[in-house]
Amino acid sequence: MISQKLPIGILGDGQLALMLGEAALAQGVDFLAYGNDPHSSFATRFPSQFRLGKKNDQKTLNEFARSCSALTLENEFYKVNQLREVAQATGVPFFPDLPSYQFFESKVSQHRFFDRLGIPSPRWSPYTPEAVQTFSYPLVLKASEGGYDGYGVRIVQFEEGLAQALSDLGYSEGRPVLIEEKVNIEREFAQGVLLDGTGGIIFLPLVETIQKNGICEMVLSRSSLSLQEYKKVESTIHVILKKFASTQMRGLFNFEFFYVNGEVLINEGAPRVHNSQHLTLNASPVSQFDLVMNYLWAGKMEPKEVTILPAIMVNLLGKSKGEQYRLALPVLPPEIQVHAKLYLKKECRPGRKMGHLNLVDPSGKFNLIELAERVLKEYEL
Ligand code: ADP
Repeated sequence: MISQKLPIGILGDGQLALMLGEAALAQGVDFLAYGNDPHSSFATRFPSQFRLGKKNDQKTLNEFARSCSALTLENEFYKVNQLREVAQATGVPFFPDLPSYQFFESKVSQHRFFDRLGIPSPRWSPYTPEAVQTFSYPLVLKASEGGYDGYGVRIVQFEEGLAQALSDLGYSEGRPVLIEEKVNIEREFAQGVLLDGTGGIIFLPLVETIQKNGICEMVLSRSSLSLQEYKKVESTIHVILKKFASTQMRGLFNFEFFYVNGEVLINEGAPRVHNSQHLTLNASPVSQFDLVMNYLWAGKMEPKEVTILPAIMVNLLGKSKGEQYRLALPVLPPEIQVHAKLYLKKECRPGRKMGHLNLVDPSGKFNLIELAERVLKEYEL
């Protein structure tokens, strides 16, 4: 059991660190975060729990680790080898543990891991001039490392567009790129799980994500599929998640899936709390952030399944530029619970993820996608 004397440490200071901190505060859990931006979301909200340090400053990072009982991450920006050095020097346990984290270091390593578990995904290959000949157009190119929110994804319609996409993704500078067949996605789903490494599993809700230009625009607690089809998808995904549980992986993970021609394909996973599970903050009895903190602080593996009310989340991207910004929302029906969350970022920029909005409809009567579309069109920020 993890010592309860020292705080839980978060590596990273962005919005996910901020929300982990807020969950910890609400649960009475001690916490600290390590990051390099004194104006970050976390540092702005929790200046006295913030420790300033560079990612590559091993000495300061080790000192931080020694002041914590366990470390968790809010992004995949740290290399596993660096974290191994921290673990060796300090003995502090990581959540996710490092063997599990390693699978998620790149899109190539993830694909290999999924293949080994026999989980279907779009056909893929590391990019080589020879390998690309075996794919037909349109195809998808992805930066294997460092891409997020769709920024490392290029849909290549024709062979003529290949050179430009490779150059965008930094292939000529030595960045690894992978090729995927472009599948005809009907729906996209995401589900989180907390795994304790010994087969114990907490299922977060299965949610539907709605993307525009490769960027997640909304997340829906109920699928727009028929209930029967949705149940089939859910049970297929649960079988997949149980496969992960049987590998001794330990951590909170979020997986994304494509629904294509009645089949479920895995897209990718993240070894941490994730944007697609923000609905749990307001539509569930416990949030993804509570689960991490309660597990790390007290070893709690409950509830077995996180329920969710009918709800939709809208990502609030900046529409203006400047440090003085405010959110204005359209008037919504009084039955809808409206929870706006801004991430306290210093500067608003067009397209920057500044916050999210959760709309909860306990009556289940509203067309939530329509409401969300209205919000997207009319909000000011
Ligand atoms: P990121 O890790 O940056 O979020 P993803 O790999 O999840 O990138 O891709 C972003 C989006 O691009 C997906 O949600 C999906 O809409 C689209 N996409 C990704 N891979 C494929 C594919 N193989 N075929 C069709 N669309 C894809």
